[in-house]
Amino acid sequence: MTRHPVLPAGDGRDARRRMLALDQRHLSGPFDIIGDLHGCFNELNALLATLGYTRDDRAIWRSPTGRLPVFVGDLVDRGPASVAVVDLVMRMVDNGAAGCVAGNHDLKAERYLGGEALPLLYGLDTTVAEFDAESAETRDRARAFLGALPGHYRFDDGRLVVAHTGLPEPLHGVDTPDVRDLAANGTHGDGVDPRDVDTRHPWIADYTGAAHVVYGHTPVLEATWRNRTIGIDTGCVFGWRLTALRWPEATLVSVPAERIYATRRRPFLPEPGTVPSR
Ligand code: MN
Repeated sequence: MTRHPVLPAGDGRDARRRMLALDQRHLSGPFDIIGDLHGCFNELNALLATLGYTRDDRAIWRSPTGRLPVFVGDLVDRGPASVAVVDLVMRMVDNGAAGCVAGNHDLKAERYLGGEALPLLYGLDTTVAEFDAESAETRDRARAFLGALPGHYRFDDGRLVVAHTGLPEPLHGVDTPDVRDLAANGTHGDGVDPRDVDTRHPWIADYTGAAHVVYGHTPVLEATWRNRTIGIDTGCVFGWRLTALRWPEATLVSVPAERIYATRRRPFLPEPGTVPSR
């Protein structure tokens, strides 16, 4: 088996605890930061293969050159294989082979798995249908994993921050439930302004932090830098692409969605028609 050059191979709970700690300033990468998955299991496998990863004898993807995948969250909802995505990401984290932060959809799924009665909106219905067909053990394992996800990471001596909706600079490194909640859920816009990036991530317009901040949450047609921040959710579940940001290279690698799994009610940014169609 190929050993991960950066981190030791699987030691179960210790690896999970290590990989899900917020403070990762001692890790300098290189990283492959991967956008919202929403159950797009085939595209996840295709992207990791495209990035040069290979599967070991436990079907865990590892980089032969010591790169570390980091997921920006939203593993579940809307797509075809949320359970498979959670299972793979969980096994990678438990083997020291990936990191993952909490997205708003992951926290909702955790609450459902914990027995809360929630309206089955925003794609939660697909995740519920999948988990209801699984054993209690599988559901409990997923719930514990999703509940342990950190709200954000600090990497590379504090120069790189990864959070599902991003995070204003004064909150980098703040490890409290409120900041975790803010990082995962962001600021709720009015739901009608098509300029989602501004209403859902209002801090970005004035961001002057030294750290580069990588986030997901809001689908965009093209991942572009703005004030040292970049959103890499390129709407795979809506039929567009799954994207990784390679760090420190700052290059983008994408694979196309196999199909349209869900319909986006609001337009992508920039609105279709303002960029070349695919
Ligand atoms: Mn999302």
